[in-house]
Amino acid sequence: FRVKRAGGGHASFQRHEDQRSYLRGERLSALHQALERNELQLYVQPKVDAERRTVVGHEVLVRWIRPSGIVSPLEFIPLAESSGLIGLIGRWVLRQAVDALKTGQLQEVCVNVSALELRESDFVAHLRWVLEERGVDPQRLWLELTERSLLEPRFIPVLHELKALGVRTALDDFGNGYSSLMALVNLPIQMVKIDRSFTAGIGEDTPDGLRALKVVRGIVALATAYGLLTVAEGVETPVQADLLMKAGCAYLQGYLFGRPAPLS
Ligand code: C2E
Ligand code: MG
Ligand code: MG
Ligand code: MG
Repeated sequence: FRVKRAGGGHASFQRHEDQRSYLRGERLSALHQALERNELQLYVQPKVDAERRTVVGHEVLVRWIRPSGIVSPLEFIPLAESSGLIGLIGRWVLRQAVDALKTGQLQEVCVNVSALELRESDFVAHLRWVLEERGVDPQRLWLELTERSLLEPRFIPVLHELKALGVRTALDDFGNGYSSLMALVNLPIQMVKIDRSFTAGIGEDTPDGLRALKVVRGIVALATAYGLLTVAEGVETPVQADLLMKAGCAYLQGYLFGRPAPLS
């Protein structure tokens, strides 16, 4: 009886796995088609100067527009990464973003780049070519990288190449991972983006809120001491914006100043 039950359990597990990989295959070929059918769409979210509250640039956030609804990058970027499609998607996003700089639709833009894209040996050469071909000043482009990328020693030369090219880099989602800021401040990067979880934690007059505020002040102070600009993500309330500004954070980004919206 026991053996039979175990066997039955295994069969059902197998069915479940088959179904999952079937669904993954379906979604993957749909994502391939999305590129061909132009179903991907750039959304952009403004970044504001913390003191003047004026827009200084935009972050590109890609969306997949399907007949059934809009698919979040949190869903399809991991799929693209695990299937190798991220290279094509990343280049498409980059071209669209640089085109928007060329036409003057955007003045300055931040593009998210995954570690797998950086791994392409011709990543910087391709980027240089895209900028040159469109005659766009590299200073108008920022790349947002996560600490997963920045902590891979083999990417350090890539960071130096980007710096030499004039394209600046930001550490995205800082505080979300496990590394200390000390491990990152000496890298050739120019900006630290403070993770939304920190922003969400401040602004409340509770022990937790006050502690979160102290941590944010510490991050901003350390980053600034190393010559890095700071931007806080996920700013949703005026209280958070004021506290971050007073903490010395240079830029703010979040629903308070604008939700991601389609780049027409
Ligand atoms: P991220 O780069 O950290 O982007 C910030 C995310 O927070 C975005 O989610 C944005 O819509 C959301 N957000 C902005 N302000 C607020 C706020 O005030 N409150 C809240 N609750 N959320 C806010 P989104 O657009 O779903 O993107 C998720 C992630 O997908 C991005 O995180 C980024 O890692 C990745 N991603 C998006 N576009 C691309 C892309 O073109 N290439 C790559 N490689 N990754 C991308
Ligand atoms: Mg980002
Ligand atoms: Mg984040
Ligand atoms: Mg982020």
